[in-house]
Amino acid sequence: MRSNIVAGNWKMNKDAGGTEALLSELKSILPQTSVSVMVAPPFVNLAAASSQLAGVAVEVAAQNMHFADSGAYTGEVSADMLLSIGVETVILGHSERRAYFKEDDEMLSKKVVQAVQKGMRVIFCFGEELDDRKAGNHFKVVEDQLKNALFSLPETAWKQLILAYEPVWAIGTGETASPQQAQEMHAFIRQLVRQAYSEKVAESVSILYGGSVKPGNAAEIFSKPDVDGGLIGGASLVAEDFVAIVNAFE
Ligand code: PGA
Repeated sequence: MRSNIVAGNWKMNKDAGGTEALLSELKSILPQTSVSVMVAPPFVNLAAASSQLAGVAVEVAAQNMHFADSGAYTGEVSADMLLSIGVETVILGHSERRAYFKEDDEMLSKKVVQAVQKGMRVIFCFGEELDDRKAGNHFKVVEDQLKNALFSLPETAWKQLILAYEPVWAIGTGETASPQQAQEMHAFIRQLVRQAYSEKVAESVSILYGGSVKPGNAAEIFSKPDVDGGLIGGASLVAEDFVAIVNAFE
């Protein structure tokens, strides 16, 4: 039912040569695994990454896309453009997109609808900021983000969704949520999905944790019953570390 997933979000790192080098190292050391492995290089290197990984069990994902089919949106990339180069998965709602590019729940909801309609898979990111957690509002913030962007979708759309809980205070900071904090939030998220949809949807959606996951902490985080994998930033840029994280599943 739920699959274990490790996805690498490369963010704005690696030029053409760097992408090629990192993928070839990854290909050479990645063992056969039941874990679904994904990498998300920057847009300009997606086509090359797709061809380099043809026939390899590593899926290529985009880090963003626009909600419109096409048109006067300078600098943007559409779902059809991604599909035309073999990219069928997209990360949406990353906290950096929300913070620096003003993507709000309303815009994200449109992006998710578009991706789902186009048959794409979505890794939907959400999570509270440090102030929310300090104030004890983290559950409410997460609930609102999910309700606003996802809970109007039909149940059938959920086959295409992967959730990624990423507390903003743990992203790129070296500070991880404790495995207990991750489990507590993941169980809460699964319960929200159960209430909004059904037991079946709640039990089949994969919920990833993201925020300073490293080879040294991945196994303990992944051992929690409601954590189905990770969205990895910094550590996905080093092939050995990324593979160690994939191998952290029991
Ligand atoms: P990090 O990033 O692993 O570098 O904390 C995670 C993410 O932003 O997806």
